[in-house]
Amino acid sequence: MIWNETMECMSREDMRKLQGIRLKRTVERVYHNCEPYRKRMQEKGVTPNDIQTIDDIAKLPFTSKSDLRDYYPFGLLSVPMSEIVRLQASSGTTGKPIVVGYTRNDLNIWGEVGARCFTSYGLGKNDVVQVSYGYGLFTGGLGAHAAVETIGGAVLPMSSGNTEKQIMLMHDFGSVGLACTPSYALYLADALLDSKIPREEFKLKIGAFGAEPWTEGMRKELQEKLGIKAYDLYGLTEIIGPGVGHECEYQDGTHLCEDHFYPEIVDPVTGEPLPPGATGELVFSTITKEGMPLLRFRTRDLTSLNYETCRCGRTSVRMSRILGRCDDMLIIRGVNVFPSQVESVICEIPQLEPHYLLIVDRINNLDSFEVQVEVKDAFFSDEMSKLMELKKYISHRLQSVLGISPDVKLVEPRSIERSQGKAKRVIDKRMLK
Ligand code: ADP
Ligand code: ZN
Repeated sequence: MIWNETMECMSREDMRKLQGIRLKRTVERVYHNCEPYRKRMQEKGVTPNDIQTIDDIAKLPFTSKSDLRDYYPFGLLSVPMSEIVRLQASSGTTGKPIVVGYTRNDLNIWGEVGARCFTSYGLGKNDVVQVSYGYGLFTGGLGAHAAVETIGGAVLPMSSGNTEKQIMLMHDFGSVGLACTPSYALYLADALLDSKIPREEFKLKIGAFGAEPWTEGMRKELQEKLGIKAYDLYGLTEIIGPGVGHECEYQDGTHLCEDHFYPEIVDPVTGEPLPPGATGELVFSTITKEGMPLLRFRTRDLTSLNYETCRCGRTSVRMSRILGRCDDMLIIRGVNVFPSQVESVICEIPQLEPHYLLIVDRINNLDSFEVQVEVKDAFFSDEMSKLMELKKYISHRLQSVLGISPDVKLVEPRSIERSQGKAKRVIDKRMLK
């Protein structure tokens, strides 16, 4: 099902025209109403008149996370406080929180894009959808909440935590959809097994998972463990929250709501725009937001874009899985390592649970790199020699994917701390020294 066929299936040519018109309007708004933007544009020698089509976007300066911190809390608002009806803040995975303000119309847009996501997953007005993203300053809970309300589903506002109750209500209320982080979904999957309630007594069919990077391997794991279809839900606080992008029934890339959020891919180091299909840093310009529009915001997320029409009929651009954030990239003995690469190896080995932790340290001026991973119950009691063999195999696979060989430590099932929100997969002790 498609929520807004006009926008989601518009011809590429019409979409670019619309994006141009909306960009121009946004640039005018921020130039006249937001001092920092006006100053930046003046420094670059650009005026709103220079922006006529979407191609002119490259003339505009970038905005970054540090700009949001510098103008903390309200310096980047483009409307008076009387127009703001909601404040949210980022969960602060990487530093001080970032505040965003929404007008009434911005909240409507958030509901609209969220509705596109949840409709494309196959959810509708007859469904109970359990929202187990955290509610509060973090946009996950309230964003998914608005999405479910907009499609007319029955929203079950659980927030995260209280896992036993999550399972009880999922069962008793017949939740069809579950919206949470993939790592919390994994936790709930184990809790569901522990509850000893037969799977057939649950109605759960669809997962709307996001807010953190996850791999195809993790998708497979979640689909099998929960007996559902698991879809990607992408978003970030600065741009609006969850709802910036979503997968469709083909699970072949994350469609972006590009009539509201215009995406570009740039070289993460030089900021130069990259050709279609190249992998680089994702940059968004909000082209309809009023409260706090952002122009050319550097997300630090690494991905690529595909402009081909999808089998679902949507023409909206699709982004490939987020490899990770530039900030998540570890440099170990000079080699670039993303936690998602480790995850993809772990998920392909049947003896392992998808729970892992990367521990990096510097000992005698040399980087040490340990990967802890849980072994499944059924294998943990295997003979020592078998476990040693398994360890060797994992090291070998990681070496070939990462180009560097970590110390693999097999740990007992359920010994790595579980996450109820965004998982913490890396301990970099070098940062503390
Ligand atoms: P914080 O930056 O404090 O974590 P947010 O909650 O706004 O705050 O997080 C947004 C970030 O979360 C994105 O920039 C991206 O790195 C990550 N993220 C969100 N959804 C996904 C997803 N579906 N896949 C991969 N990463 C995601
Ligand atoms: Zn599609």
